[in-house]
Amino acid sequence: MVTETFDYIVVGGGSGGCTVASRLSEGQNSSVCMLEAGGDGKNVMIRVPSAVAAILPRPIFNWAYNTEPQPGLNGRKGFQPRGKALGGSSAINAMLYVRGHQLDYDEWQDLGNNGWGWDDVLPYFKRAENNARGGDDLHGDQGPLSVSEQVSPRPIAQDFIKAGEQLQYPSNPDFNGPTQEGFGMFQVTQKDGERQSVAAAYIHPVMDRKNLDVKTRATVHHIILDGKKAVGVAYEQNGAVHEVRANKEIILSGGVFASPQLLMLSGIGPADHLKSHGIDVKHDLHGVGQNLQDHIDYISAYKSPSRDLFGLSLGGGMDIIKSIFEWRNHRTGMLTSPFAEAGAFIKSDPALERPDLQMHFVVGIVDDHSRKLHMGHGYSCHICVLRPKSRGSVTLGSTNVSKPPKIDMGYFSNEDDLDLMVKGFGIMRQVLEAPALDKWRGKELYTENMHENDAIKSMIRQRADTVYHPVGSCKMGDDKMAVVDDQLRVYGIENLRIADASIMPTLIGGNTNAPTIMIGEKCAAMIKGE
Ligand SMILES: Cc1cc2nc3c(=O)[nH]c(=O)nc-3n(C[C@H](O)[C@H](O)[C@H](O)COP(=O)(O)OP(=O)(O)OC[C@H]3O[C@@H](n4cnc5c(N)ncnc54)[C@H](O)[C@@H]3O)c2cc1C
Repeated sequence: MVTETFDYIVVGGGSGGCTVASRLSEGQNSSVCMLEAGGDGKNVMIRVPSAVAAILPRPIFNWAYNTEPQPGLNGRKGFQPRGKALGGSSAINAMLYVRGHQLDYDEWQDLGNNGWGWDDVLPYFKRAENNARGGDDLHGDQGPLSVSEQVSPRPIAQDFIKAGEQLQYPSNPDFNGPTQEGFGMFQVTQKDGERQSVAAAYIHPVMDRKNLDVKTRATVHHIILDGKKAVGVAYEQNGAVHEVRANKEIILSGGVFASPQLLMLSGIGPADHLKSHGIDVKHDLHGVGQNLQDHIDYISAYKSPSRDLFGLSLGGGMDIIKSIFEWRNHRTGMLTSPFAEAGAFIKSDPALERPDLQMHFVVGIVDDHSRKLHMGHGYSCHICVLRPKSRGSVTLGSTNVSKPPKIDMGYFSNEDDLDLMVKGFGIMRQVLEAPALDKWRGKELYTENMHENDAIKSMIRQRADTVYHPVGSCKMGDDKMAVVDDQLRVYGIENLRIADASIMPTLIGGNTNAPTIMIGEKCAAMIKGE
């Protein structure tokens, strides 16, 4: 067995892990080892933005988890893609750069997390960001993460925004600006027409640092504890088990499913549950794996006669072939599309302080995470509940790390989420039937002529699933269900922090990549004592 020693060990090379490992290895003062179960994240399928449609439904660079049967979804199993490569889920995500609502972070602070209010976290969002529009009070232009306009958006996206305006919704040129509400185009984490995963932003450019050792295809089995102190990590690479030891700290960044799984496999978690799997309890911590929450989402889809949209047809195939050449030669064209080109944040009730619904407008037909294909061309729109009240959990299915944990999303376990989604569906349908979209619109799939709330509810239960933002399974806080404190230190264990989406105490009202990078930035700054 090989045993190496570093100052810091980062477990998982995703959005949180890459950010922390890159920042901790700046300067030459500290040695850092990052362990990632997947490969180097440089494959062309990751770099071509629209190739996500091929990756999403398959276990390519993707853990492709299935959830437990969901009573709220008529007993269906949900699907939970998660990235498996350097960059983690940012290597397979839709690249939309959205931070959430400013008040979401003030809510974290109000929940007892000092230093996590909007004014506290804004500098870390800015530190990460290199926005093509330049820097200002709200945006950074010196960070490693390129945030840019879409290179070749489809014209229909502007008509979606016009449809919103026709219904008196404001248009919004910047969802990360002073106000979040309204209809607009998403900015994307792309650089010159290529996906910019967090690995491409933070790790690939610094792989030659002598004090940074990035181990890929290295699957961590558990954290090694000496009493209540984290001292190392056991991992498997090329069929052999090795250890790495940490002089200073271990930072767990396995993401919302693997971080609680790895804690439990290391003996940290709810004692009864660990004992039921024959695991020696090192620290009884009730909250590990609890508090799981996600943006439950419903997609409406329409057929369209236009070939300017993605679709399955002979002509559409020819267009894709042409666009492969265009992307290869110029890094422009359809292949740069993030699919979800435009979107909206809306309030189900004007009296609300924050939008409680989000739409993603997609320039192709999406059905069951692209696992179900339809002939012809079309477009879709997602509607999701931004602050769901339902909660789920991550528990162990086995003591073998290579077996997926049991993921119970608890969708619609609180019926308020379903009622809000029905309301959101009604608003979305009004938008999709506004005159601005007349020239694109063909047959509505699934819900044509469906107007009764009960029928819509039952269709939602039949077809709703994630829009890929699960968080909260190792929540930060100061109550008895909290797993980490406001310095991201695991309660009861020395030298162990968590930096990924699992620490979010509540789900923010927006997409979760930028917030996870912010968490990574803040974690590194806290460790460095900045
Ligand atoms: C399909 C999809 C679309 C999305 N679209 C968007 C979007 O457009 N905009 C947005 O803001 N957010 C989006 N998200 C969400 C966002 O990408 C995630 O919230 C974010 O990347 C989570 O970061 P993380 O660090 O918590 O976890 P991850 O980025 O998932 O990183 C966890 C890493 O740990 C590794 N790992 C796990 N177990 C082990 C182990 N035992 N040993 C070693 N390594 C391990 C994994 O392989 C992975 O690399 C999307 C997500 C998906 C899946």
